[in-house]
Amino acid sequence: MGKEPVRAREIEAKERIKGFDEVVVGYSEEEALKEASRCIQCENPTCIDGCPVGIDIKKFISEITRKDYRSAYFTILEKNNFPSICGRVCPAEYQCSKTCVFTKKNEPFASDRAIKIHFLERFVGDYGIKNRLKPKGAKEDLSRFKVAIVGSGPAGLCCAGELARRGVKVTVMEGLHDTGGVLRYGIPPFRLDRKVLDFEIDSLRKLDVDIITNCVVGKTKTVYELFDQGYDAVFLGLGAGAPSFLGIPGEGLCNVYSANEFLTRVNLMSAYKFPKYHTPVNIGKHMVVIGGGNTAMDAARVALRLQKMNGIEPDTTILYRRTEIEMPARRLEIEHAKEEGIKFKLLVKPVEFEGDKEGFVKNIKCLKCELGGPDSSGRRRPIEIKGSEFILDCDIAVIAIGLKANEVLTKATPEVKTDKWGDVTVDAETMESSMKNVYAGGDIVGGEGTVIEAMGMAKKAAQSIIKRLLEKT
Ligand SMILES: Cc1cc2nc3c(=O)[nH]c(=O)nc-3n(C[C@H](O)[C@H](O)[C@H](O)COP(=O)(O)OP(=O)(O)OC[C@H]3O[C@@H](n4cnc5c(N)ncnc54)[C@H](O)[C@@H]3O)c2cc1C
Repeated sequence: MGKEPVRAREIEAKERIKGFDEVVVGYSEEEALKEASRCIQCENPTCIDGCPVGIDIKKFISEITRKDYRSAYFTILEKNNFPSICGRVCPAEYQCSKTCVFTKKNEPFASDRAIKIHFLERFVGDYGIKNRLKPKGAKEDLSRFKVAIVGSGPAGLCCAGELARRGVKVTVMEGLHDTGGVLRYGIPPFRLDRKVLDFEIDSLRKLDVDIITNCVVGKTKTVYELFDQGYDAVFLGLGAGAPSFLGIPGEGLCNVYSANEFLTRVNLMSAYKFPKYHTPVNIGKHMVVIGGGNTAMDAARVALRLQKMNGIEPDTTILYRRTEIEMPARRLEIEHAKEEGIKFKLLVKPVEFEGDKEGFVKNIKCLKCELGGPDSSGRRRPIEIKGSEFILDCDIAVIAIGLKANEVLTKATPEVKTDKWGDVTVDAETMESSMKNVYAGGDIVGGEGTVIEAMGMAKKAAQSIIKRLLEKT
């Protein structure tokens, strides 16, 4: 049977819903050693195949077992710039833990017995932060080159770090007033402690990366102007910042939010500390979130906390038109949402928001669904059941059904070709776009993905940029 898996410690549900403190506490040294000792150091470590950036998982776990945490940190850093972040948010159950030898071939997610690789990664990343370990500096002096990075999400930050470490002069331009992209405006502090995010961004500043906020490239200045100002290359890490809507009647009623707006108000603009911070967000007796991904789980868990913090009996419901197994959210987030008291209404589809005389939403007309055959995503298709209509009380609705490209920059830069979804098309080997010396990566290439996938693309782009810069000399 082998040794028992070590679950990372967490704050109890009834305590954690009182605020925005981090839910998962992580491993102590003793727990990390115990979990690492379960790894059987396979001759052919299949876990590495499941990691989008190919971290040498076998090696860093073996370093943990030898208590050589410093080496473990640098082993991870060879492939992943932000272990503390990925250790907190990576969907390991679909990635490295799913390809761990302890997960059986046909299991839809990682088995409970799979090694908890992300928690070990977090332990090592936090060790690096605590001990102020610094990534290795530039091997050659490329400071005569200047690269502009547009967007400060994981893709932009990762590309900036890769280039700065090689001595390239990097400037990050961010449209919002603060850095981090989804890591700050989307993922709530109870999943990713802001101290961790700030530390990682500060370490980029220490590498002499300039960060300019409130600068929307495509409006404040154009990509053409960046080249005129002497930048040798531009990396676009624009993300997928535009919300999708349901296209049903009543979507324009008051108190029907997009998850983007709702989460940005709370996370970026600190609406959960209103009135100390100036941005308010409306809270109601019946909060309903529509969707089944990480965004929906985050929005629902935020909504429930806001109810609790404002003395309202928590009543937050997730509506999803398929079943739990098809939900794209991380399994841990689904589990946490349930523990915290969020209600799941599955196989249900909203068809209309109904409002009161003042134009505020008051309920949602819904239809029940059943599952049909698989659709293009491979998931079973929801089919409406005729005559199954019912009404759900709702005074705040949050639509969390996906994000798409924000086209401000690409519309202003016709040489940068996009596909039918508005995503930037790139050469898959180099990540260069159709405009010479303009590269792209992250969610703006291929749509909404994961943090580690965004970083993987950014790293690839950074390598291509360096190759091109060196060809110039
Ligand atoms: C709520 C939510 C929860 C998620 N949870 C997880 C999770 O648990 N695990 C996981 O792996 N993934 C998760 N994801 C997905 C993940 O966050 C994204 O895949 C990742 O952030 C993409 O990184 P990026 O750098 O491409 O884009 P982003 O993080 O979106 O960053 C893009 C940045 O570019 C800026 N920008 C855009 N256009 C311009 C412009 N013209 N000029 C200047 N700046 C500009 C934006 O303001 C933004 O700051 C989640 C996504 C959301 C929305």
